[in-house]
Amino acid sequence: MNESIVELDQKYIWHPFTQERTAPPPLPVARALGASLFLEDGREILDMACSWWVNVHGHSHPKIASALAHQAATLEHVIFAGFTHEPAARLAEALIKALPRPLSRVFYSDNGSTAVEVALKMAWQYWRNTSTTNRRMFLAMQGGYHGDTFGAMAVGRTSGYYAPFNDLLCEVTHLPFAPTWLGDTACEEREALALARIDEVLDRHGHEVAAFLAEPLVQGASGMNMCRPEFLRAVVERMQARSIPVILDEVMTGFGRTGTMFALEQAQVVPDLLCLSKGISGGFLPLAATVASQRIYNAFLGDDFHTAFAHGHSFTANPLGCAAGVASIKLFDEEGTLERIARITQSNRAWLAEVANLPGVTRPRALGSIAAVTLGTDVSDYHAEIGAAVKAKCFARGLLIRPMGNVVYLMPPACVSPEELKRAQDGLTDVLRETAHLYTR
Ligand SMILES: *Cc1c(COP(=O)(O)O)cnc(C)c1O
Repeated sequence: MNESIVELDQKYIWHPFTQERTAPPPLPVARALGASLFLEDGREILDMACSWWVNVHGHSHPKIASALAHQAATLEHVIFAGFTHEPAARLAEALIKALPRPLSRVFYSDNGSTAVEVALKMAWQYWRNTSTTNRRMFLAMQGGYHGDTFGAMAVGRTSGYYAPFNDLLCEVTHLPFAPTWLGDTACEEREALALARIDEVLDRHGHEVAAFLAEPLVQGASGMNMCRPEFLRAVVERMQARSIPVILDEVMTGFGRTGTMFALEQAQVVPDLLCLSKGISGGFLPLAATVASQRIYNAFLGDDFHTAFAHGHSFTANPLGCAAGVASIKLFDEEGTLERIARITQSNRAWLAEVANLPGVTRPRALGSIAAVTLGTDVSDYHAEIGAAVKAKCFARGLLIRPMGNVVYLMPPACVSPEELKRAQDGLTDVLRETAHLYTR
């Protein structure tokens, strides 16, 4: 009866994205506040990964916590077909007011993968509802990551995580991505090459395409690869010139992560479908939204169920998640969240300028609260072992940093203090110095 939490975990739990045989035992977390996690054994760890990119304002924010407590005691959950409630309506209003027209309808689900799955299904059925052309092809960007359900795996197949499932995935053509970084001088040539290739694909297959999907400005899981807003805009304009529905996956980039509320603002593009999750509830609860344009929504209106969108989840629009979402969006004004993030960007750029001089450190890049470098080569490699060494050494210094192979990044919550951020930057600089022999030769 007196088994420790770790003993119970090791006996009964199967962890995500983990090789259970070789992974060290998981660390029990007792509580969290602001940018800090407090472990059972009393250690304090700075969360520089926003706990898998979901946290926005900091952990256990008292305003979100009290909105949740109030909601839990009022209405914890209710079926969302045929019923509605205040948190869902208020959150939808706040989202639509923060987004450009013609994005106008919010469809709720519960995680980033389902937000993407819903968008793909909406785009697919859009064509079946409105025309007799049998469009079957999805276009996505090389390196894009969109979640782990089947449709999301298909569009994200080049992220390199899904080899065992390849035979099951639907038809997707991947388009070249044109990355850029601080001090990059050749990005316009890279973009021109990518756009020429995209034009070729569109000339040949444009009429077969059901939708185009991309992570705007930052490809997260494939290595925090960033592109210029001009590149994203050029790609989106090409799709829209051919009436191909555009899906932007802002599951990671939404809610301030790139310095604006949504990344699409910087590229000045408006998609037909927008996927949101992760930061939507401030990082408190699983919740997601797929926001549709009026054109997409109208295509599902009809006199019988055939043209309706036959999709829903048990916990669609959970009132607790929506209440957390409303409270989180209010905090952007109350706490000047975007100004806080602008200060993080400034500090990170100055830090990267130094780090970029270390041997083997390539492609320094920063946007919003994200700062990243690639180690050893300039190509992201999720299977590179250097990440584990950097992670362990950072952890010993009280920093939660979760490299993706040879890509190392900082992503603090907006509440991080200048001192905390400096501690993380200096700690990571020291660790890169100590581990340089592992990735330079
Ligand atoms: C994390 C992520 C997803 C998947 O979200 P889950 O909530 O993990 O299912 C989809 N797209 C992007 C861009 C992501 O970063």
